[in-house]
Order: sequence, then structure tokens, then C-alpha cells
Amino acid sequence: MLSYEQARNTVIEQVGKRIAPRATTPVNVWDALGLVLAQEVKADREYPPFDRSTRDGYAVCTQEAVPGAQLKCVGEIKAGDRVRDALTAGTCLQIMTGAAVPAGADAVVMIEHTSRDGDVVRLERAAQAGQNIVLRGSEAAAAQTILTPGLRLGYAELALAAQVGAVQLQCSRRPRVAILSTGDEVVLIDETPGEFQIRNSNSVSLAAQVRIAGGEPVVLGNAADRIEDLGEKIERGLKEDVLVLSGGVSMGKYDLVENALKALGAEFFFDAVAIRPGKPAVFGICQGKPVFGLPGNPVSTMVTFELFVAPAIDLLSGAEARALPLVEAKLAEALNEKSALAHFLPARVEWRGTVPEVTALRWQGSGDIAALAKANCFLVVPAGREKTAIGENVSILLRKDVV
Ligand code: AMP
Ligand code: MG
Repeated sequence: MLSYEQARNTVIEQVGKRIAPRATTPVNVWDALGLVLAQEVKADREYPPFDRSTRDGYAVCTQEAVPGAQLKCVGEIKAGDRVRDALTAGTCLQIMTGAAVPAGADAVVMIEHTSRDGDVVRLERAAQAGQNIVLRGSEAAAAQTILTPGLRLGYAELALAAQVGAVQLQCSRRPRVAILSTGDEVVLIDETPGEFQIRNSNSVSLAAQVRIAGGEPVVLGNAADRIEDLGEKIERGLKEDVLVLSGGVSMGKYDLVENALKALGAEFFFDAVAIRPGKPAVFGICQGKPVFGLPGNPVSTMVTFELFVAPAIDLLSGAEARALPLVEAKLAEALNEKSALAHFLPARVEWRGTVPEVTALRWQGSGDIAALAKANCFLVVPAGREKTAIGENVSILLRKDVV
């Protein structure tokens, strides 16, 4: 049985070698958050476009700027002012953050390190050449490529595009992710379930996880535990870029998802992973499309999506697969978990001291959505571990949506 790292790498390898060039579309910078860039963005001029002061203070020539020096302040330069005159001997100019440093000045002395009497400025310390100045062109040369294809557009990347006037950005279209739940017991979320029925919460969590991963969910509803119904709805799902199924992949008599996929020509790369929850997770390629059969217990569905489906969506978005958000934390309460499988336990991490502290939450197993709704991470207990004492270092997988 594959470890979760091996299974994840298998997904990355198999999806990676099948991705066709993605369709792209122009998107306004205001609407492009989380999309993947499909073009180069170049600087429209030098950045900064002039030698820029990074402090409020006085523009000086360092040769004159010895401690105790007295310089005559002959004017001021605000951000946005055009500077014409060069600094002359024995003088300084008051300058604001973001303003252009005049010729003849090679440092800005912070206002805090000066005292002033009328138009005479007294320097308290020596100034070093270049101090508090960002030189023209030092952030980017004119026409330099500052954003490259495949980059995910977060707030900083969007600001950089905006800075150089790239208002329309060619972006990859979001991969369309078909979501198909299965199970005779599953009813619509706006229906009143019979005593032994359950509402289709997995389609809701999966759609949310698809959105967070950068995909566009296409919710196909629910298939009954019958080969014909499954086959029909799977075929519909194969029209999209990826198909994600929930349920029907365990050992039960009515777990028919693998058979239905096989009948449609699927090639499987794994159908079990050494994790709990989520062991029966299935990954294959069916008619050229990546297909995931995730176990139906809600927490299993959520964990296996994060581990295996999210990297596929990254790749299909034209980006690299992002690393799992694994972080080291200190165990706040001793743990007694022994298993041959790696465990992903709903847990809460708190940043109280310098090191994050994590506590596993009480839960009733992989059907317990309420426990996960209190969790902000999963505590990852490696396969084979017997006991973990209080204060020991453990790995946690952050829930990207709430942390
Ligand atoms: P399965 O993987 O099909 O054996 O399903 C395991 C359990 O997960 C079922 O008994 C249900 O309790 C639960 N389950 C299956 N599908 C869903 C769904 N779409 N939404 C919420 N829970 C589900
Ligand atoms: Mg089922």
C-alpha cells in the first residue's frame, strides 16, 4: 500500500504528464485573485523611476554630513514633486518619504536624527552614502519581466501588475471539476431525509474545496449504488477536466465505483493509501481524465481531497503543485495512537507562545463533521508511531480555509 506521500507523488506524476496547454482568457486585475498567470508581465519603466527617499528627513551630501554639522535648509521636496535644482554646498533639503532625491544629495538623514533652529538643521550623526535612498531602477529595469506564466496571482502579484499598469492579465481558465456523490442513502440538502437517509454534505464540502484549490466545481448530484446509474453519471463527469466521486470505494457489496470506472476503461494507479481516515481512496485515469474515488465518510472525503485532488487542480490550472501546508507544532496533550497507518486527526493549533501548540480533538471517527468544524488543522501521526508525549514535536496539516 502506498504512503500518502507516494500516492500524492503518483497523482502529480500522472496528471503532470497529461496536461494539455490550458485555454486562457483575459481577466481584469480586480478579478484575477487566485488565478494562474498565462503571460509575462514586464515593467513599463524603471522601478523606482527616480532615486526615492524611504524616510522623512533631509537630503544631504555625506561629505558634509558629519556629526554636529549645521546645514541651511533651502526648501522641501514632497512626494510627487518634480525636482529641478541640485543640492548646493552647505545646504540641505527637507524631503518626504517617496519623494525624489535631488542631484548632489547621496543620503537622507532621518528627521529623528536632526534638530532644527529656523532654517538651520543640525545633524546628530554621520550619514552613510546611499542611506535611506532606493536607487532608480534597483527594483526593476525598464522592460524587465517581473511576473512569469504559471505564477499564482495573490495580492502582492496583483499589486505588482497594477504598479506597472497591467490592467488586463491573460490567465489560465479554472479547471472544471465534476463532483459526483454516490449512495442510495444520500438525499438533496434541501430535502428532509428519511430516518436512515443523510443529506449530501460531501458535495458541499467538495465544491468549497474545489474553489479553494482554484477549480470551478460542477456539481452533478448523486448516483445510486447501481452500475448503470453510476456509469451514466460518470460519463457525464468525464466531460469535465477532472472527476471527483465520493463514496462507493470501500469493500462493501454496494461499493461499485471502481467497477463502474473499470467498465469505462479506467486505468488505476492506486486504490488504497496507508492513511486513516481515507484508506480506500482511488485514483485513476479514465478516458484521458484524472478520476478520484474518495471514501464517502465526510472527514475521509475532506482529507483525501486535500492530499490527492488539490495538487491535480494546481497542475491543471497551469501552476506547479503547491506543497502541503505542513507545520511543526508542540503536542499540548499526550497522544495514544498506534496504527500501521498514518493518522490525520482533527486538531486545534494555538499560537500562544513562540511555538505553535496543538491538541487533538475528541471525535467519533471519520463521520464526525462537527469535530472537524472545531478544528483548524489535522494532527499528522506517522505510521507506526505508538505514543507521543506532551511537548513532543509533531507535524500538523493546516486547514487552509480557516488558518
Ligand atoms: P461509503 O464510502 O459509500 O461507504 O460511505 C461511507 C459513509 O459516508 C456513508 O455511510 C455515509 O454515512 C457517508 N456518506 C456517503 N456519501 C455521503 C455524502 N454525499 N454526504 C455525506 N455523507 C456521506
Ligand atoms: Mg456508499
